[in-house]
Amino acid sequence: MINDHRDHANAAFQLLPALPICQTDLPLDWYQPAFRPYAEEYMALPDRLPETVLPWLDGYVRPAIDAFGDSLLLVAHYYMGGEIVKLVERYGGRVADSYELALQARRHPEKKLIVESAVHFMAEAIAILANDDQQVWITNPKAGCTMEMWAKDDMVLPIVDQLQERYGDELVVVAYMNTSGRLKALAGRTRGAVCTSSNAHQVMQWALRQGRRVLFLPDEHLGRNTARGLDVPSDEIVLLPDPRVGLARIDDRTIAGGLERLDRARVLLWGSSCGVHTIFTPEMVEWHRAQGRQVLVHPESPFDVVTAADGVGSTKYLWQRIMDAPAGTFFAVGTEGHFVRNARAQASARGVDVCHLAEVPGATQGGCGCATMSRNDPPHLAAMLDLLRRGEPPEINRVLPGDAVNERTMQRDRLDPEERATLTREARQAIERMIEIVESTP
Ligand code: SF4
Repeated sequence: MINDHRDHANAAFQLLPALPICQTDLPLDWYQPAFRPYAEEYMALPDRLPETVLPWLDGYVRPAIDAFGDSLLLVAHYYMGGEIVKLVERYGGRVADSYELALQARRHPEKKLIVESAVHFMAEAIAILANDDQQVWITNPKAGCTMEMWAKDDMVLPIVDQLQERYGDELVVVAYMNTSGRLKALAGRTRGAVCTSSNAHQVMQWALRQGRRVLFLPDEHLGRNTARGLDVPSDEIVLLPDPRVGLARIDDRTIAGGLERLDRARVLLWGSSCGVHTIFTPEMVEWHRAQGRQVLVHPESPFDVVTAADGVGSTKYLWQRIMDAPAGTFFAVGTEGHFVRNARAQASARGVDVCHLAEVPGATQGGCGCATMSRNDPPHLAAMLDLLRRGEPPEINRVLPGDAVNERTMQRDRLDPEERATLTREARQAIERMIEIVESTP
């Protein structure tokens, strides 16, 4: 039976267009001036194969490791391209999901210099939990998360003011890890908590059990999937005004069903989402299932996709399901494209097949990676390490709690030390509350 399925699948695969390359080399003028010489060298390489890129990267990583020794820690997210993942693993660094990344400084106090290849909110979360003698650097400050970009504090706080005026202390903020430190601190101030996709269920359950009204930031889909998974009826879940429209008012015109519906709601959802996870449809799920594949999706996908899939869970869950599967299993996975490619490469050696959920006949977008995270390409990592070793790192690449970076202009708004200390304390409270909730749940 399994072979049957695989034959169908292989035949179907041959009909598919080649995976599009969603991220090409960045234009040279897109690099910070100090990074351009490294980008020029990279662009002059004959190809982008790991056999070519990795030795070139080694030429910068090895001298940095010689200079900083054990105090240097390289970290990357699962969504990074294969050569960065391979390199970070080779040098004893950590490739992980956002939860594990956030804990890196705290778990490794001996690491004084942490260089991150992922998006800005992940680097900031590491910095929030870091000791004063640990520095966090990001290889490209323009690597933002589009979900977080539609939930900046100046968009969210005016709405929160109105909700607090209406509901006072009844309002509790649950901030997904994909938020700035400023919003994690907001969660801390409301005696709320941070959550990740692997523990959103436990954290929202904890908040609802207090009888409080939950404002879930910033992902509409994770918030809805989690609330529905806890049996909150759909008419007790309300979507707040679309942040892309810029309606910073809560009233009968901006809330579907009006204020009366808002007052009945137990869960209020901020309306941001991830472009990488919202391309999936229930039809894609059905198509892959008809080929005999198991469908796994990330909970940032829409509700009808999650309910149609065979399994739903965090990045770590998806990785583990694939790596633990017996030979002959074929998965269609609805999440970020680099992750799927990295998983496919690892799993194929064990006889497990993996394809991207958007790889269906006629699809044009299948397999896209997170384009903003991919802004941390190999020349950014080479340049960051070399400039740190030479004592000339651009200050804009340093990450401190509370930093707000405009991903287009690279302008940074940095808090003064007193504000930063307050923000760090409040954001830590929200992260530590998450850890307490997770550790106290049997
Ligand atoms: S995949 Fe989506 S949610 Fe994750 S970092 Fe990229 S834009 Fe943000």
